[in-house]
Amino acid sequence: AHLDRIAAVDGKVKAFLHVDREATLAQARRVDERRAAGEELGPLAGVPIAHKDVFTTTDMPTTAGSKILEGWRPPYDATITARLRQAGLVILGKTNMDEFAMGSSTENSAYGTSRNPWDLDRIPGGSSGGSSAAVAAFEAPLSTGTDTGGSIRQPAAVTGIVGMKPTYGGSSRYGVIAFASSLDTPGPFARNVLDAALLHEAFSGHDPMDATSVPEPVPPVVEAARRADVDGLRVGVVKEFAGEGYEPGVSARFNEAVELLESLGAKVVEVSCPNFTYALPAYYLIAPSECSSNLARFDAMRYGLRVGDDGTRSAEEVMALTRAEGFGPEVKRRIMLGTYALSSGYYDAYYGKAQQVRTLIKRDFEAAFEQVDVLVSPTTPTTAFPIGERADDPIAMYLADLCTIPANLTGNAAISVPCGLADGLPAGLQIMAPVLGDDRVYRVGAAVER
Ligand code: GLN
Repeated sequence: AHLDRIAAVDGKVKAFLHVDREATLAQARRVDERRAAGEELGPLAGVPIAHKDVFTTTDMPTTAGSKILEGWRPPYDATITARLRQAGLVILGKTNMDEFAMGSSTENSAYGTSRNPWDLDRIPGGSSGGSSAAVAAFEAPLSTGTDTGGSIRQPAAVTGIVGMKPTYGGSSRYGVIAFASSLDTPGPFARNVLDAALLHEAFSGHDPMDATSVPEPVPPVVEAARRADVDGLRVGVVKEFAGEGYEPGVSARFNEAVELLESLGAKVVEVSCPNFTYALPAYYLIAPSECSSNLARFDAMRYGLRVGDDGTRSAEEVMALTRAEGFGPEVKRRIMLGTYALSSGYYDAYYGKAQQVRTLIKRDFEAAFEQVDVLVSPTTPTTAFPIGERADDPIAMYLADLCTIPANLTGNAAISVPCGLADGLPAGLQIMAPVLGDDRVYRVGAAVER
């Protein structure tokens, strides 16, 4: 049924970069065989899933939305891919994304823009916009994403679905094509909080192949989603994430969500996190710095595209030609910014300063979580914007992640759940919890999702 739905609507939604009907049906038959052979399979066995094209897959191409990796077949599966297979999920295909996960709209994909199913002229969010569009368009009940600065929560918010960024290190980065390694966090998309928790539990947990994987057990997220209450919980409204720049409809839905929390028994207080306002500029030094280093591996020798290798050019020339042709403008902008920020003489002023800001944000979170159990804010300041509106204005595009970035800089758990429509378009409520407090955001999210 999902393959039929993809065939019917994906020509318009453009969520997928790769779908193979026969291979998908073969995967489904293998799950049936495993079940028939008496294997104990988890609750998601046989459920189809759309997989972001940033996760390596041995049986499907993996491009990270970039021309430089066009047609590349990875020699190994990402840990998350392997765990999906182990749990018996059926991978329908790979979803579109901003190139190397840099963006908030999928407009930076080398393969065209995905569409928001609520209004095909609007963006589905990004960078995991193919994954959010697929779930919102009923092409898949579940999908995967990665969140470096908001790339799961923001697309979830603008397409009216649930998207969760786990605690950093709670889900494996092994086989996730790297953008900014100290921030990249894989997580689930679903149409309700309990489904997201089931997927979270299926692919999370310690991975010896990822040096930053946390050793602690996965928080009891499914139990928390089933509990779905706010009894005795203290909820902090982040004072800095309101006012100018927030669409009136988004603020109205957010205020209603806060009232709902109160009516369900939560104690709501306003909390100040003064350094959160510096999170966005700090992120746009740290993330490009890490990307400039990570993307050095695309050297025309090891992977994918190679341009101008005709026997007359040096390796450096081939590398330069390949990177000039293989990377899109946003990726180049970030490599240049990051290289500059890391260069000798500027390191302390830019990268070093940004890391200090990161510590201040961590302290804000710690002080806040002495007063409250969770923090809430709008997920993103506006509803889905029209395709093209911010394409030529990087700063406007970066503002989409104003509220989501603090949790990335500190590794905290955070979810976006639907909180109603503003002028006919979905708005999202963000719920943030301490590191390894993933169960808390599921518990609260399940109580208030709409
Ligand atoms: N939109 C942000 C960026 O462009 C975040 C992207 C992400 O989380 N991968 O960097």
